[in-house]
Amino acid sequence: MNNEIKKEQIDLSSPSLSGQQIIILAIESSCDDTAAAVCLNGKILSNFIANQKVHEKYGGVVPELASRAHMQNIVPVVDVALQQAGITLNEIDAIAFTQAPGLIGSLLVGSGFAKSLSLSLNKPLIAVHHMQAHVLANLIPNTPPNGGDGGKPLFPFLCLTVSGGHTQIVLAESPTKMKVIGETLDDAAGEAFDKSAKLLGLPYPGGPLIDKYAQEGNPKRFSFAEPQIDALDFSFSGLKTSILYFLQKETKADPQFIQNNLADICASLQFRIVSILLKKLKKAALQNGIKHLCIAGGVSANSELRASFQKMCDENDWKAFIPPFEFCTDNAAMIAITGYYKYLANDFTDLSVSASARAGW
Ligand code: ADP
Ligand code: MG
Repeated sequence: MNNEIKKEQIDLSSPSLSGQQIIILAIESSCDDTAAAVCLNGKILSNFIANQKVHEKYGGVVPELASRAHMQNIVPVVDVALQQAGITLNEIDAIAFTQAPGLIGSLLVGSGFAKSLSLSLNKPLIAVHHMQAHVLANLIPNTPPNGGDGGKPLFPFLCLTVSGGHTQIVLAESPTKMKVIGETLDDAAGEAFDKSAKLLGLPYPGGPLIDKYAQEGNPKRFSFAEPQIDALDFSFSGLKTSILYFLQKETKADPQFIQNNLADICASLQFRIVSILLKKLKKAALQNGIKHLCIAGGVSANSELRASFQKMCDENDWKAFIPPFEFCTDNAAMIAITGYYKYLANDFTDLSVSASARAGW
């Protein structure tokens, strides 16, 4: 695999076409958030998101309700994003939208809207793969107020994308050339957090709560099984089962076991999930000789993952890139930056494009 990677580092610092100002309007509607963003030559001018509260009482996203909420939100959300950017519809150069993967009804709202805009304004259309956009969120200029040092990863780099639906190690060779070199065989890392949280009686989504309780806990108190999976792939279903059996056994002996040990259980669980993720990421970096590493996706908000990722990179003399939280979870800024690089690569699509729930790379 090593030989296939082009080692020269691609300069992304001045990619606009001969001084032209390129303005992209981006729309993201793959799951339960309706989002729109505007970027100018790769700089994010606005990034607006309408979260859907309607799902909370169901303990997970209800696809039909998500589609309906997108229908209500899409026009005002795009309007706000344009207003905040100080840009009018006539000024935009292209419309980027999430084409795949995601909930099909949700994707259809965003893609239908983007196609209608493209047709009525006579502006080019750019189809964006949601998972590739999570990776390219790391190319959004990351200034110190957002926690970054202003630097961007240089190609080729690795990205560990961890969300509620995906767990992938992606080898990014250029903004338009990426491949998945490791992924989960069953549950995603976010699901491992959320399903374990459910077993602990915590509400959905439980990931942030496990993070919160773990702050006070001892990560070495309980030892949860580490799956033995080949190559760079992951598995989290065995961990979930081992937690279930562990809790059944302990609560039989002491019905108050969870309440009395919540912080230690959360810390031990979080420690195991993070160690599974980083072990494979380290293996991938060593195998491919890559020194610029990124994380992305909702789970990259996890404080232990962020700290241990940074530590691992420091110890190995690798450079760690962690996007600001607002660009980690689903957002339209990442669709805008991907749209911008696709614009530069002349990678447009026509109106016959259709949304797709699943999509290969
Ligand atoms: P998706 O797009 O696949 O729905 P997101 O990128 O929106 O996923 O991320 C949501 C996931 O991130 C949920 O599983 C949630 O529990 C998890 N998550 C968010 N914050 C944290 C955190 N601090 N610690 C662990 N998991 C978290
Ligand atoms: Mg996502």
